[in-house]
Amino acid sequence: MFLSKDQIKPEPGRILPELSRILYERFGFSSFRPYQEEVCLAAASGKDLLLVMPTGAGKSLCYQLPGLARQNENRKTTLVISPLLALIEDQVAKLRSLGLNAERIHSGRDRETSRQVCIEYLAGKLDFLFIAPERLAVPGFVDMLARKPLALIAVDEAHCISQWGHDFRPEYRMLGQRLPALRSAPVIALTATATPQVQTDICNQLGIGNAERFVHGFRRTNIAVEVAELNPGERISALQKMLSQEDRLPAIVYAPTRKKVEETVDELSGHFKVSAYHAGLSAAKRDQVQTAFLSGKLDVIVATIAFGMGIDKADVRTVAHLSLPASVEGYYQEIGRAGRDGKPSRAALMYSYIDRKTHEFFYDRDYPDVSILQKIFKATTESPQETEFLCAKIGMNTDTFEKALEKLWIQGGVTINANQEVTRGVDSWVQSYTAHCNHKKAQLEQVLQFANAQSCRMLQLVRYFGDQADNAEPCMLCDFCATDAVMVSRGRDLSSDEEIIAAQILRALSTSDNSPATGTIYRDYFEGKQIDRRMYERILSALTRAKLVVVFDDSFDKGGQTIRFRRVSISSDGLALLRQGLKNLATVVQIQEEPTLKKGKSLSKKKTKSKSSPERNSEERPVSPKLVEALKAWRLSLARTKRIPAFRILSDRVLVGIAEIQPRDEDELISVHGFGPKLAEKYGDEIISIVAEHL
Ligand code: ADP
Ligand code: ZN
Repeated sequence: MFLSKDQIKPEPGRILPELSRILYERFGFSSFRPYQEEVCLAAASGKDLLLVMPTGAGKSLCYQLPGLARQNENRKTTLVISPLLALIEDQVAKLRSLGLNAERIHSGRDRETSRQVCIEYLAGKLDFLFIAPERLAVPGFVDMLARKPLALIAVDEAHCISQWGHDFRPEYRMLGQRLPALRSAPVIALTATATPQVQTDICNQLGIGNAERFVHGFRRTNIAVEVAELNPGERISALQKMLSQEDRLPAIVYAPTRKKVEETVDELSGHFKVSAYHAGLSAAKRDQVQTAFLSGKLDVIVATIAFGMGIDKADVRTVAHLSLPASVEGYYQEIGRAGRDGKPSRAALMYSYIDRKTHEFFYDRDYPDVSILQKIFKATTESPQETEFLCAKIGMNTDTFEKALEKLWIQGGVTINANQEVTRGVDSWVQSYTAHCNHKKAQLEQVLQFANAQSCRMLQLVRYFGDQADNAEPCMLCDFCATDAVMVSRGRDLSSDEEIIAAQILRALSTSDNSPATGTIYRDYFEGKQIDRRMYERILSALTRAKLVVVFDDSFDKGGQTIRFRRVSISSDGLALLRQGLKNLATVVQIQEEPTLKKGKSLSKKKTKSKSSPERNSEERPVSPKLVEALKAWRLSLARTKRIPAFRILSDRVLVGIAEIQPRDEDELISVHGFGPKLAEKYGDEIISIVAEHL
């Protein structure tokens, strides 16, 4: 019924009508979306490829259709590897509704069902078989798969395989070793988020170094991106003003912490139908909020990053960020939830340099120093030791130990067997851990660079992802391209001091024939004259917005490292204004308010406060060792079936926290420090029943 590989290869002209026919007959679509056709063509002709397109662009079709096109008497099944059970279930249901035979094997299904699926697979009955990556570690499973030639192998959410990626999953790494056995079939790796560095890493890890890359569709032509430097204290009222303007609802607002979420909801609730969405709410409550938002009963949802995964609401008009995001990838994913219907939408980011401190605080908390990992590594041996024994041997605080051990495990510095015993791993963990830490820090720098940059926002985002076919035109919507449309912060006239500096910059630029580095102008004209760099940068940025100067990125190579810097030159408007004696300079150029720290609000103060009250539940009961044991036994058996170390399921600290609080329902469970809704969804019922049994 479908073309064989041999038929496909020599006559590319014939594939197109064939692919279009499958598109129509099997999927019910009359035409391809942008780029789908060329991707399907490449995959159907047996090429390995990497596909990077944003969520919603239609990536699934790009493996499903060629998978069907490649079917013949010998090969039938497309194997799809996907780390998210919910997505697997979703895709299987969709394919089945199209009359295709799709099945799945993952930890959520019992042994007998999985066995049955294998039988169907071997009998050549399945069009699609979805599996979670850890399944490939099950002894014999890959051999079983290899008994039938596959039509295609699709690796979904492929960025999870790269530790430079947005959501690295160490469990995904084994893929590289397991795929070769199945490699009579081409591999297509798919992701919505991968920088050029991550793209290369994905291909290397999967052993498809020659894969053709398709990186497309990152430009969103209906989202106006604006970034405003604002004091933390000014942001909520700026947000409120913005949301009160026409066509700004529905809106998703991202806040950095639960506390900030609650505070924002309080402030907005007099004006909008608004609800909070964060990790401290029960699953039932979160479902209720999400449904209300989807059905239009809520105007605004204020969320921590926990919100939005897989949410599909087409008419979101505004996405606002109340603080600096941790990475450009994450930021892009979040603003991408605006305007899925293609209608004009807006993304507003409010930040200031103070936000950097918050990120540094999280970094210090989450990435223990190499020396701590080193201590554990030195204490490990070739023969397995129990984790608790090891921890006691070093005399380390359990919490610190667990965190560091996990990092060590991720980097391969230790291996952990099914009995949760630790053995020494590879030495190279030091380099990879250090590289990983540096990468985290670099991400913060990049997001700051994005926020501080002085050129079209959308163009920067598109470049960040290395979009190949992009036209490189300014977007004409963002706060640089369409200054007048800015909603969050309109700025003010220059003060007389600022006007003098602005004039000096313009004059300096008018006399230099090439485009000097922004730093050079500062050094030559302002350094040491009580004009600090920040002030200079603000005025430079204001001049850029007024289109009197143009700032652009440049870089040079220094000892193998790329050093980035910016150059600046005067524009024709700038020269014209200069010729007119800089008339009205102070009003032509609008400056953003300088964010200042309010008195008495320092970070260190916040820190001590949160330290003194980390545990929320005031009515803790004495910890029952029996309950701890029961929870540990449950965790161990789960770790064995999932083939992951126990601490990947729950840390000891959280486990003891559960034993202290003895939760009777999900609300109480979520009140355990460190226990989020994701965990509750996965293990909530089991834990509550273990506690109930104990009580
Ligand atoms: P992604 O995986 O890139 O996030 P999906 O594959 O889930 O995107 O596709 C998003 C939506 O677009 C789905 O509802 C899908 O059915 C639809 N879609 C995909 N391709 C086409 C097409 N050629 N014509 C119409 N709808 C399409
Ligand atoms: Zn722009």
